[in-house]
Amino acid sequence: MSESAITIGRFFEGVRDGQLTAIRCGKCGELAVPPKEFCPSCHQRAWQPTPLSGDGTIASYTVVRVAPARHAPDAPYAVAVVTLKEGVSLLGRLVDIPLETLAVGLPVRFRPLVLHQQPVIGFGPA
Ligand SMILES: [Zn+2]
Repeated sequence: MSESAITIGRFFEGVRDGQLTAIRCGKCGELAVPPKEFCPSCHQRAWQPTPLSGDGTIASYTVVRVAPARHAPDAPYAVAVVTLKEGVSLLGRLVDIPLETLAVGLPVRFRPLVLHQQPVIGFGPA
């Protein structure tokens, strides 16, 4: 058992501090977003923390125009699946990018956000 596997709590502590951290399998090299119990490739439990650059491109996005009550003041806003250059994908809020300029393939960079006192993955212009 790997004691260094990152919990979701530790992952978001890193987000708050401006650091995205993935986990890499010490057996086969598979890179994943925590938390994960077993490596999906080799079924081992040998995760090791690996810092991510935060640089990526938009793989998919949606513009939220009618938001849940606590996010309503922010609408319209966009959320995106961003594929980082290391190959893993993360869901995050897009900030400081005009909604009409959003496009799949647009380069973006990780930006830590705090919404309602919670650390949130954000992406802004690269
Ligand atoms: Zn593995």
